[in-house]
Amino acid sequence: MSSFRDRPRATGSSEAWGSLTGQLIRPGDPDYETARTVWNAMVDRRPAVVARPTTAVDVAQAVRFGRERDLEIGVKGGGHSVAGLAVPKGGLLIDLSLLGSVRVAADQQRAWVGGGARLGELDRASQAFGLATTAGNISHTGVGGLTLGGGMGWLARQFGLSCDNVESYEMVTADGSVVRTSESENADLFWGLRGGGGNFGVVTEFVFRLHPVGTRVLLAEFFYEVDAAGGAIRRWAEFLPSAPRQATLTAWAGQTPAGRPLASVGYVWVGDPDEGRRLLPTFREFGPAVNEKIAEMSYLKLQTMDDEPARYGLRRYWKGHYLRELSDGAIQAFLSVARSGAGLLHGNLQSYGGAIGEVGADETAFSQRDAVVEFVASTAWTDPAEDETEIAAARRYGAAVEPFASGVYINTLADEGDSGVRRAYRAEQLRRLADLKAHYDPDNVFHLNHNIAPASGRAHTA
Ligand SMILES: Cc1cc2nc3c(=O)[nH]c(=O)nc-3n(C[C@H](O)[C@H](O)[C@H](O)COP(=O)(O)OP(=O)(O)OC[C@H]3O[C@@H](n4cnc5c(N)ncnc54)[C@H](O)[C@@H]3O)c2cc1C
Repeated sequence: MSSFRDRPRATGSSEAWGSLTGQLIRPGDPDYETARTVWNAMVDRRPAVVARPTTAVDVAQAVRFGRERDLEIGVKGGGHSVAGLAVPKGGLLIDLSLLGSVRVAADQQRAWVGGGARLGELDRASQAFGLATTAGNISHTGVGGLTLGGGMGWLARQFGLSCDNVESYEMVTADGSVVRTSESENADLFWGLRGGGGNFGVVTEFVFRLHPVGTRVLLAEFFYEVDAAGGAIRRWAEFLPSAPRQATLTAWAGQTPAGRPLASVGYVWVGDPDEGRRLLPTFREFGPAVNEKIAEMSYLKLQTMDDEPARYGLRRYWKGHYLRELSDGAIQAFLSVARSGAGLLHGNLQSYGGAIGEVGADETAFSQRDAVVEFVASTAWTDPAEDETEIAAARRYGAAVEPFASGVYINTLADEGDSGVRRAYRAEQLRRLADLKAHYDPDNVFHLNHNIAPASGRAHTA
């Protein structure tokens, strides 16, 4: 491993690595394997070189260096894209892990967050003051990819998606310039970064609004035999529109490790747990549960409790959909997985609404404000020989729910390609995104993502 500063000047016109502070890693260097590893163990691509910048200026130099040598460029935040989109085969991987600092100003209720920070770092720094902003549910996920695609979490019904809580961004463009954007500065770009993914450049800093949420939460989950679960989920769905915003409603369908088909409904309450307990009788009326789990815990515990099941090192696949309503057909499709005998494959529902739906449909690139719930089918396994079977089972389950779907979350796309991107955005928003892409990245340098082709530029064809 060498620092940019140590590296000999490149030939040709570039002095790209001169006088910089980040790391440069090549195959065989001690950090190479860590740098190219992502969450999904199915992804095994080997970049020719990895840059680990420590400043926005470093990032700009890395982008210029890659372009001058015609290297395909990938940008890794937390590495949690299930398709491992960030990692180029050959080419230059810009690994943002050294840009992971988080600074909180409690009096201003703001956090300055590096483009490579993990959710856990943001949560820990904010909770030291009883503050938080919307972040996803697994602490090793990257703030970068999650926020740029939207960002759903237990606080979203109260405060909006993660992207709704970003006040400003610092971003390095495809030509190596550093730009800032907010409601009042480069407002078009600000619109596009709120849901448009990593298409427009490398975000080196997010400034988040924080909220005083306290430090305690309540979780409730009620389990049903699958044949009895349909009625409970119907009542759960009817309750969704009137549920308090502190509550994010959840449902699950799958099998126990012993192979017993099971389903559950529940909620996560962020706020005073005693207030949260007042919802328990409503849920108990949904139907006689075979078991229930009620737990009070810290917000930080909530945000890390699934880190281990969601750990690195497993082979993964998933399919997601947004739904505007849960018809009886949709509920039966959701429950079908529990009866399918498909092992670790399971389905989750998570409620939207509240503050998410109050942001105007055209205010952000995120296009799915009218979703009532998000459905995700996911599975995990270890033996490469099972790849085909596991992926096929998840696709079948996803296909069973798709007829009831209204769209898809860009961050839950896997290998759907262009058709997935078209489902994630309304046509008008996609046109606006393509125009923005043509302005900021006409050559589609940043295409290792759920790609939006530039309107009047060259689409990447590799
Ligand atoms: C275990 C797990 C739990 C999850 N939970 C949630 C959840 O609760 N809520 C939710 O909304 N989503 C969730 N997701 C989905 C998650 O939002 C996406 O997988 C997201 O892409 C992860 O971002 P990342 O930075 O970790 O991934 P990466 O693979 O590093 O990046 C994903 C994409 O974003 C781009 N990117 C990343 N950082 C930057 C940056 N700073 N500037 C420009 N481009 C960048 C990359 O180039 C890539 O195209 C979860 C995913 C996993 C695997």
